[in-house]
Amino acid sequence: GKKVLIVGGVAGGASTAARVRRLDESAEIIMFEKGPHVSFSNCSLPYHLSGIVEDSEKLVIMRPDVFKSRYNIEARVHHEVVRINRDAKTVTVKNWLTDTTYEESYDTLVLSPGAAPIRPNLEGIDQSHVFTVRNVGDIENIASFVKQNGVKDIAVIGGGFIGVEVAENLRLANYNVSLVEFANQIMTPFDYDMAQILHKEMLDHGVYLIVDDGLAKIGDEFIETNKGKRIAAQAVVLAIGVRPETSLAKDAGLEIGETGAIKVDSNYVTSDKNIYAVGDAIEVYHRLLHKPTRLALAGPAQKQARAAADHMYGIPNRNQGVIGSSSIHLFDLNAASTGLNVKTAELAGLHVDSVYLMPGDKVGLMPNSNPMHFKLVFEIPTGRILGAQAIGKGNVDKRIDVIATMIMMNGTLDDLKDLELTYSPMLGTAKDVVNHAALVGLNILHGVYKEVKVSEVRKLVENNAFIIDARERNEYNGGHLLNAINIPLSEFRDRLGEIPKDKSVYIHCRSGQRSYNMVMALQHLGYENVYNISGSYLGINLFE
Ligand code: FAD
Repeated sequence: GKKVLIVGGVAGGASTAARVRRLDESAEIIMFEKGPHVSFSNCSLPYHLSGIVEDSEKLVIMRPDVFKSRYNIEARVHHEVVRINRDAKTVTVKNWLTDTTYEESYDTLVLSPGAAPIRPNLEGIDQSHVFTVRNVGDIENIASFVKQNGVKDIAVIGGGFIGVEVAENLRLANYNVSLVEFANQIMTPFDYDMAQILHKEMLDHGVYLIVDDGLAKIGDEFIETNKGKRIAAQAVVLAIGVRPETSLAKDAGLEIGETGAIKVDSNYVTSDKNIYAVGDAIEVYHRLLHKPTRLALAGPAQKQARAAADHMYGIPNRNQGVIGSSSIHLFDLNAASTGLNVKTAELAGLHVDSVYLMPGDKVGLMPNSNPMHFKLVFEIPTGRILGAQAIGKGNVDKRIDVIATMIMMNGTLDDLKDLELTYSPMLGTAKDVVNHAALVGLNILHGVYKEVKVSEVRKLVENNAFIIDARERNEYNGGHLLNAINIPLSEFRDRLGEIPKDKSVYIHCRSGQRSYNMVMALQHLGYENVYNISGSYLGINLFE
């Protein structure tokens, strides 16, 4: 049979090995992993810090002896592939257990070496209380260090998925946690307005969140930021991003793409036809941006692994490109996103608009009904759906998965408006959040009414704009925008005299539903410059 060697034994590597075995019982399959474990759940690592995954052994899904007995796959741990010898079709392997080096030949080689955490060159970075998170050993090290050294304050650097999950889990374990993010928001898949909800969730749970500021140096019991903040930290976790592991490929003269990751064709073949590459180390094709990108996620890595193995055995695979779908759980919230947000779409020169609404995730009178913040991004004038973001206590992932499906099928707002979804009051609403978003989107696309984004409200208030608060009096009295005039939807027909026709009028309520009705009514009554405030009071509240 064919001899297949695989570099890296986790998401991409182990998936490739398993698929090759299913396609070819006679293949000789050897998987090299430089670390002590193959097939562990990278994505579950942070949950060991809170004790949600109490036993770190549980993070390891399958051991080498099981790979051997069940699948006849040889998983060699503590074995690092240090060189690819393309002419000889061999790899040079360092066995760290015996400190010896040997060569192993291949017919086909698969690279799935992943991506390594970035370590910036900063003062104090090499101290023993500075950690990164990539594998089981890393997370065990953090957990035991903070326990054994009586650590109270921990600084997490970087507000991406890993940083946010690490901060959350350390906070759940009752440490004083600071999170420092260089950009003006955490979690870049979300637009700035949606990210405010996540910021608030972190602050409400006692995470000291610092955005718009970077790590400058690390002392022995503190860190210092670029803007001169000094924050107590007896432990520091760096999570400022990952760098694709390309050194093996580079040294072997394999082509590297414009994003700095390994270049592959649509079948995950590198510039050498006997070598495949998958996972975090490669660049992939962005279906919506029509250009190469990097996407360090487990789902795509597994799909690429299967496609690469299939290609080895002549099974065709249509490369659909990626759109970038992800989700995260943060304290009491779930958050998910797919496709493009407004920021990336505009940067790419696309002509887009978006709607931001917060309908109930279930029928309001049911227990556990909560507002869901939902933002839908679409192209103008086609109405093609390009992306969505959802945050709430309920099933945001279900909604975002529907949108991801729509994007993959080139769906438009019209398709989404009519999409027939399930409904039962304990689970959702008759007009699901995603249907609702499509209706609002179509209103905007067709110019049925005008709106301003929640991010523009501060300017309106400063400029003394005419803002109507359409909520009931008791709601208004409980807190309202400076200078907003309270004209409840239930009263406005008797109070039209207070609403000017020669001025722009901006209307909000709690969630956008009542203000939408007032906007429509005023338009029918001949008002030409009425605007609904998209995001309404729930959204405004998040913009301090
Ligand atoms: P990896 O799974 O990283 O595997 C690569 C392996 O190759 C490593 O174990 C490495 O030691 C080994 N290796 C490298 N070079 C060599 C060599 N020369 N010789 C031998 N072995 C080598 N993704 C999601 O979709 N959702 C999540 O919630 C999520 N959470 C995450 C949380 C954390 C803390 C981390 C670290 C990642 C998370 N990810 C998540 C990302 C996901 O884990 C990766 O996208 C995925 O594991 C990539 O698979 P891979 O095979 O390319 O690389």
